[in-house]
Amino acid sequence: RKGSVIITGASSGLGLATAKALAETGKWHVIMACRDFLKAERAAKSAGMSKENYTIMHLDLASVDSVRQFVDSYKRSGRPLDVLVCNAAVYQPTAKEPTFTAEGFELSVGTNHLGHFLLSRLLLDDLKQSDYPSKRLIIVGSITGNTNTLAGNVPPKANLGDLRGLAGGLNGLNSSAMIDGGDFDGAKAYKDSKVCNMLTMQEFHRRFHEETGITFASLYPGCIATTGLFREHIPLFRLLFPPFQKYITKGFVSEEEAGKRLAQVVSDPSLTKSGVYWSWNKDSASFENQLSQEASDQDKARKIWELSEKLVGLA
Ligand code: NDP
Repeated sequence: RKGSVIITGASSGLGLATAKALAETGKWHVIMACRDFLKAERAAKSAGMSKENYTIMHLDLASVDSVRQFVDSYKRSGRPLDVLVCNAAVYQPTAKEPTFTAEGFELSVGTNHLGHFLLSRLLLDDLKQSDYPSKRLIIVGSITGNTNTLAGNVPPKANLGDLRGLAGGLNGLNSSAMIDGGDFDGAKAYKDSKVCNMLTMQEFHRRFHEETGITFASLYPGCIATTGLFREHIPLFRLLFPPFQKYITKGFVSEEEAGKRLAQVVSDPSLTKSGVYWSWNKDSASFENQLSQEASDQDKARKIWELSEKLVGLA
């Protein structure tokens, strides 16, 4: 049978390119889990994906109810789940004030981390039950959360501190909207959320890899300077960022190439190692990359896991 893969945020950028790459192999049925159904349908059509290779399902990661509804309808569909890709993200680099999810969590961490945390936890059993030869849970990370890299050292740097804001509910009322309890900064909130993504992948690996055989992995696909992620940035930045990445840092990667990389992490038989953060060198060969100290801190990973469970209503 074909493999079944859920990709969140498959309506644009990396998620769409990955959906297309997998659908084209004829070996995968892609479930595009998207908040805007029509946009996803148009995107799939214009990418030239053929109908029998994908299904669009509604998912808004900024709402606990929506995540639960998505999981219920997926389970009712009777489809197996072989691979889950947590890809969707919001990035608000110019926001002056925080905005919030349905439950009142700061939007970037609420969507990128808490929404995906709940989704992965609720779908873990389905992955376990799959009889597919290589079952995987992939959470897209980023270099920007890794302070052991040049890109990760551009201020404001990721820093989760002692997690006091997360413990307080990230609601900007009786707690800060930032994980470390500091003043709101949209760019930092995004980077913090990516550190949570990478820590969550490793915590899943420690808790469940041996027992389930599921491969847990994260990756940095390269700088895809053309995606919608930068849609809220100032126009001058949007104009200069792609050529800057192409010619100066040489970290630029096209959406198509990045999609192929993520598709490799989904399906390549040689990328089955669990607990790994994949990156690619300039010849587009994959390698196991090092995470920064904070993004590999086991104690923090466990604390974030436990606090996140409380916030999304799992504990
Ligand atoms: P895009 O903005 O193009 O894609 C993000 C996707 O997430 C969109 O489909 C968007 O939906 C979706 N999304 C946002 N909020 C929600 C929500 N509440 N519920 C469901 N879906 C939502 O950005 P990219 O393709 O660049 O980003 C994809 C991933 O790649 C992210 O995890 C990002 O952190 C990561 N990444 C990107 C890099 C880059 O250089 N671009 C570098 C490193 C990592 P909609 O279409 O409706 O807006």
